[in-house]
Amino acid sequence: MKNPDLASAPPPPYQIYPEASIPPGPMQAVPIPIPQLHFDEFPPGPIQVVCPYCYATVMTEIEHQSGTCTYFWCIGLWVVTAICCCIPFLLNSCKDRAHKCPNCHKVLGMYYRQRDCC
Ligand SMILES: [Zn+2]
Repeated sequence: MKNPDLASAPPPPYQIYPEASIPPGPMQAVPIPIPQLHFDEFPPGPIQVVCPYCYATVMTEIEHQSGTCTYFWCIGLWVVTAICCCIPFLLNSCKDRAHKCPNCHKVLGMYYRQRDCC
């Protein structure tokens, strides 16, 4: 059963909205040069980058972390000397280096020591 009022009433006209447009102004986007470094291609020393998290131009902080090279030297020294196996954990030159943003403290990239020593 149909409602006679709805069947005879014409459909409401479509309303066309104009597309939103941004008026031209003096402000234009200026591209920021961002170093194209992959996560594991950072150099051993601190570098200047634009942080992808807080968008600040920062000089990275280095944090030394035990990695593959550290354990490699530990096992090697344990086999040879059986007592000096903890020395690689005390030497920063045997560790990986995490590049961190000094503002948001996120890890931006890594320098893996085994690229040079193993
Ligand atoms: Zn940051």
